[in-house]
Amino acid sequence: MSQSHPLDSDAHALLDTLTSGALAVDGEGLIQYTNAAFCELSGYAPSGLLQQKLADVLKLPPKTDCALCMGACDPLNPQWATFHGGFLLVESSSGAEELRIKIKHSPLQNHWTLCLVDPFSEDTTLTQAHSDFVSTVSHEFRTPLTSIKGFADTLLSYGAQLPDEEKRRFINIIKDQADRLIRLVENLLTASKLGASRVEMSYRPIPLQRLLDKVAHSIQAKIQAKTGVSRNLEVQVKPADLEVWADADRLEQILINLVDNAVKYSPASSAVYVLGEFAPNDDSQIRISVRDEGGGIPEDLLPKIFTKFYRVESPLKQEVEGTGLGLYITKSLTTAMGGQIFAESTPGKGSTFSVILPAATPEKQAAHRRKLYATEEGE
Ligand code: ADP
Repeated sequence: MSQSHPLDSDAHALLDTLTSGALAVDGEGLIQYTNAAFCELSGYAPSGLLQQKLADVLKLPPKTDCALCMGACDPLNPQWATFHGGFLLVESSSGAEELRIKIKHSPLQNHWTLCLVDPFSEDTTLTQAHSDFVSTVSHEFRTPLTSIKGFADTLLSYGAQLPDEEKRRFINIIKDQADRLIRLVENLLTASKLGASRVEMSYRPIPLQRLLDKVAHSIQAKIQAKTGVSRNLEVQVKPADLEVWADADRLEQILINLVDNAVKYSPASSAVYVLGEFAPNDDSQIRISVRDEGGGIPEDLLPKIFTKFYRVESPLKQEVEGTGLGLYITKSLTTAMGGQIFAESTPGKGSTFSVILPAATPEKQAAHRRKLYATEEGE
């Protein structure tokens, strides 16, 4: 054993008590330690594992960056990273078999890595996702339903005694809450279609200025109806005749989600800036960014906000209506149209969400026309 071994005998004693398989790998990718649970899981004797290349024992998808999980973890965040997927080659009486595994790994000193390996159980993940889904959705349904029922009951019991203005106010609340339920159902349907890759796109050149003005106008109208005051939404497109190559309805949905979030998660007195321009150093792409001056998002949570049902824990979570589906839908639609989305944020200062999509170049339009003719001729 080399002198630079970063696991002392106490660490060995601790790892030996674990029910998860544990492995320590040196900077060359050679296994230098294995606990009894890993031997049991893999069917190998310790002597069959020590000094073996990790890559010969585990089969992992070829990616880049991290020597162990090859890119599935965040190399800038040297914490425990969990990686679902990959296989362990298990020794059995009928030869080597593949066991699907999940790995938690963390860097040690001297470029060593400690890995905890467990069989991957899809059921556990599904059950967790399912229970998150049920609790989020039932909460999101219950809130508007309680409000609708309460105001409808009041109107039925005391409607005759209430002034007309009060009755109209109650009916407006019922309508707003019913609209909220419709939006929730629409979001859930879109999310489930996206999960099953059943969203069809119809691409065409879209004049960006017109679309951004339309989005700002519809959000402004919603804010006005709700609060009675307007919000400072600044739209700028440079050059003004930029055209993006996308599905118009889907792009509108993406932009509404982003501008809606910028408005929801920043103070009413602050401005929201929407900018359309060519992507830096690439005239074949267009960048649309939505910037707010809100509370921002901690950096380590930025990758999480695009996952289904995730909402950042903060006092705002209770105050602001939301399901955690908007950014999941936004990202899925963007990538389905061949684009990219990313978020930058400084807590306390604000956030910028940027969507990159192809510009509607003459080449794109010509290729589209060729495809249409080919389809027509084939009919
Ligand atoms: P929600 O329905 O909760 O708004 P989203 O999927 O649109 O769901 O966003 C996920 C979470 O990301 C939000 O709950 C919020 O915590 C955070 N978030 C999104 N946009 C912003 C923003 N502009 N500023 C701060 N936090 C944001």
